[in-house]
Amino acid sequence: MGVKRFKEGILEVLFPRVCVVCGHSLSPQENVLCVECLSSKFEETVPNGTATSERILLPEGIQFQHALWTFDKGGYLQELLHQLKYHRITGVGVDIGRQLAVSMKKNSLMSSFLVEPYQLLPVPLHPKKRRMRGYNQAYYIAKGIAEVAGGEIISKKAVIRVKNTKTQTGFSLEKRRRNIENAFKVVHPDSVEGKNIIIVDDVFTTGSTTFELASVLKASHCEKIAIVTVAQA
Ligand SMILES: [Zn+2]
Repeated sequence: MGVKRFKEGILEVLFPRVCVVCGHSLSPQENVLCVECLSSKFEETVPNGTATSERILLPEGIQFQHALWTFDKGGYLQELLHQLKYHRITGVGVDIGRQLAVSMKKNSLMSSFLVEPYQLLPVPLHPKKRRMRGYNQAYYIAKGIAEVAGGEIISKKAVIRVKNTKTQTGFSLEKRRRNIENAFKVVHPDSVEGKNIIIVDDVFTTGSTTFELASVLKASHCEKIAIVTVAQA
């Protein structure tokens, strides 16, 4: 038995790695959730391959918006997203990103977008927030998408967040819009100009954040924009 396997064995006894939903033990490839739960325990927004964006009025220039799961307030999904955001569990972000990519490919509108080259843009975090959390959860979701559906992740130096916004929970629509206004900046326009871009985030609520980011990308003459998220409120 190698030292690495021995260490893993001890960790397994001290901290058994089990699925947070069903309690079954996890394989080394699984993080937080087993593959079975990941694909069956949450409610998909697009079970029949219809577009999520049909229910939402999108600003001009955004082709469509797609979410993997509907947001079950107080349920497993909320806990999962919380873990992803604050508990430095980056592996689950990649797992969910892979699952999101599978549902993107099932969405008939989205699949036509995916045939052309595209860039993935995780919603940038303000450097202060990034330092506090240690990572940007949207980046790991984008990583999982890239593994399954392809696409290149835009350099985090290309588009940045210049305004450290307050948390938007409980804000009115107008207050959210003002809070997020001028929060993003394109530093390297060549990485945006003429490109098809998929914005990646964890939750889609009113769209104030992703719509603001999209308007900045449009001002830098990007080609097409889509928004994908793990959950939809
Ligand atoms: Zn499970």
